[in-house]
Amino acid sequence: MTIARVTTPSELRDAYQAVLDRIANAAAKVGRKPEDVLLVAVTKYATPDQIRMLVDMGQMDLGESRVQQLEKRVASLSEFLSRKRTLGSASTREDVDFTKAATHVRWHMIGHLQRNKAKQIVNLVDLTHSVDSLRLAEELHHIGVKRDKPIDILLQVNASGETTKSGVAIPAVIHLAEQIDSMVNLRLRGLMTMAPDTEDLGLIRATFQRTSEVFQEVKKLGIGGKYFTALSMGMSNDFELAIECGANVVRVGSALFGDAEPGESEID
Ligand SMILES: *Cc1c(COP(=O)(O)O)cnc(C)c1O
Repeated sequence: MTIARVTTPSELRDAYQAVLDRIANAAAKVGRKPEDVLLVAVTKYATPDQIRMLVDMGQMDLGESRVQQLEKRVASLSEFLSRKRTLGSASTREDVDFTKAATHVRWHMIGHLQRNKAKQIVNLVDLTHSVDSLRLAEELHHIGVKRDKPIDILLQVNASGETTKSGVAIPAVIHLAEQIDSMVNLRLRGLMTMAPDTEDLGLIRATFQRTSEVFQEVKKLGIGGKYFTALSMGMSNDFELAIECGANVVRVGSALFGDAEPGESEID
């Protein structure tokens, strides 16, 4: 099913407000405040204009799932922001918190990352959600050693067992988290997961719950220390459920922008 493309500024504003309301309601249900859940607006279905409009509305956390598209988006938005003189990266500050909305634009890499592309994105993004293997972590650490600040990452967990999904199996999470924690130029900020492709809410809930449990376990063991705070789970169709299960970062695309792929010309 293709959701009609959100086009006008007022339609985008309404869609944005509707997502913020859904987050607030879901948070309230479990006794949390709306600002305790970070919305990452996933721009893969958005036009550059829509991204600019959303930033103008105050949405600073943006996510992309593909390297090439990320590069284009960052470049085009930076140009817009520098014209507006509002450019700045929050990640240069020590107190950066990935569970609270940013005051400057932050980019999140949320899709599968090949090792040979890692170098292309590290200086463009503030947080990579999709670290799914020791080898990718090692590659990022290697890159991190060469620059003056650590690379912030989430470990992607495959809690559904679906073979089509990236991510570390639940039983391997603790050990891999420990290994990443020992890499001085990586900062383990939390965990990320994706729900299985199913309409079965029970199955989706179980996936979120399992991830939430292992998140608490890692935290209890002190792995990642004070930096280990973010639990990124939930997308347009299931983020209420994710919040209920403890997510404090949600990644939402089609509920904001519709789900039609923008044409190439729109991305440039
Ligand atoms: C596309 C994507 C999202 C957003 O999905 P929607 O269903 O459009 O909200 C979230 N996370 C990842 C990893 C994605 O690739």
